[in-house]
Amino acid sequence: MWRWHRSHHTVHGRFFERNDLFAVVFSIPSIVLIALGVANESLGILKYFGFGIMAYGIFYSIFHDVIVHRRIKIRYKAKSPYMKRIINAHYHHHRKHTKEGGEAFGFLYAPKKYEVKSAKAE
Ligand SMILES: [Zn+2]
Ligand SMILES: [Zn+2]
Repeated sequence: MWRWHRSHHTVHGRFFERNDLFAVVFSIPSIVLIALGVANESLGILKYFGFGIMAYGIFYSIFHDVIVHRRIKIRYKAKSPYMKRIINAHYHHHRKHTKEGGEAFGFLYAPKKYEVKSAKAE
């Protein structure tokens, strides 16, 4: 997995990087589950799993690619401590450029230590 993900830690001028293949790979079970669930009434439950994966994929793209890395130009400034914390956690993740010692791979949840400390108490 790191072989693909490493591309995301290298500076390059291309729009796509090998790490994007994860999105393609994760879309396959999602599409299969939805198709099975729609085609077979008895397997109807499967489509919800498929939608679950899809929702995760969409949310991940919006959060990681747009909000954190600004692959699409947007004007957005994180206001909630939660958003600030998960964005900050991902910046920590990018400080390391090797698999060893990598941290904060996850998203949506970030440990308390990534809390953004603001100068003035609110
Ligand atoms: Zn990233
Ligand atoms: Zn990474």
